[in-house]
Amino acid sequence: MKLRPVDKIWPNDFNECMQMSAIIGLIPIAYYILMTKVLPELLDYGTPGYILLQLLGMFLFSNLMSNFFMCMLADTSIDPWIMSLQLERENKKPINWHECDKCDIWAPPRSHHCKICHVCVLKRDHHCTFIGSCIGHANYRYFFFFIIYSVISSLIAFIANLVFIHALRGGSHKFVLLPFANAVYDIQNLNEDGKLNLLEIFKSLIPGNFEIIFAILFGLNTLLLFLSMYFLYRFLPILIRGATYYELKKNIFTYDRGLSLNFQMILGTRMKWTWISAFISSPLPHDGIQWLTEDKDADDAKQSEMKNCVS
Ligand SMILES: [Zn+2]
Ligand SMILES: [Zn+2]
Repeated sequence: MKLRPVDKIWPNDFNECMQMSAIIGLIPIAYYILMTKVLPELLDYGTPGYILLQLLGMFLFSNLMSNFFMCMLADTSIDPWIMSLQLERENKKPINWHECDKCDIWAPPRSHHCKICHVCVLKRDHHCTFIGSCIGHANYRYFFFFIIYSVISSLIAFIANLVFIHALRGGSHKFVLLPFANAVYDIQNLNEDGKLNLLEIFKSLIPGNFEIIFAILFGLNTLLLFLSMYFLYRFLPILIRGATYYELKKNIFTYDRGLSLNFQMILGTRMKWTWISAFISSPLPHDGIQWLTEDKDADDAKQSEMKNCVS
């Protein structure tokens, strides 16, 4: 996999910087609090359930972060040198290619110029501000698993956090989400003459550091759950139909090769193993350049020829 130069990985603007920082900074903190504070409160140390959830947490966290970084590091831009070689080989203007006057190159079908990245991207889908990069031919696999593991992780974390809050209501901690009424009518807040001590009530409402951090992370956990479910709902049809976001909007399905081949086009020739880790090699069966839209049979033959070369 070709990597992006370091200066291209840097966020493009303040908005992107905040979103990328939120993923890189808050997910590890949320994982740490879940494993060291929430889980020990729910299950006894060393029990099968505790060990199972620790292992599941490790698997989900490592896949979430590795797919995020692989997606961010992968170079999705068009290599002008490869394009010129391709044009020389064809010895004529290839079908459906277009000229990008910003990059000053001829670009193959399905590629588009990104105004944020300032490059043409092979089989461009969209620009993702959370990852700070375009999603295209080279990194769709990592983007897909980042979304999938975001949904699974945030759903499990959300359920665990709800149980944790419920457990703390009857547990030893004072929790920030305790109903306001409990503090107001707490018998300890009454003076000797039976009147309410407003200062004591106010003090009891000030949460500790952990409660504040937990409340913020729980809010972000809920936000990530809804966001990732929305992204899955939005991008799953794109995968199923073998299209890009732009093509789906325009109802262009000329590259649809059926469910299995469409998934293979994104996840690679070893797609059945790619869910285990972002580091499992799975070469893509297509170079992202030679899209023969006029003749599906010829295109399929070309793909199987390339797949045989790879394997
Ligand atoms: Zn361009
Ligand atoms: Zn971009």
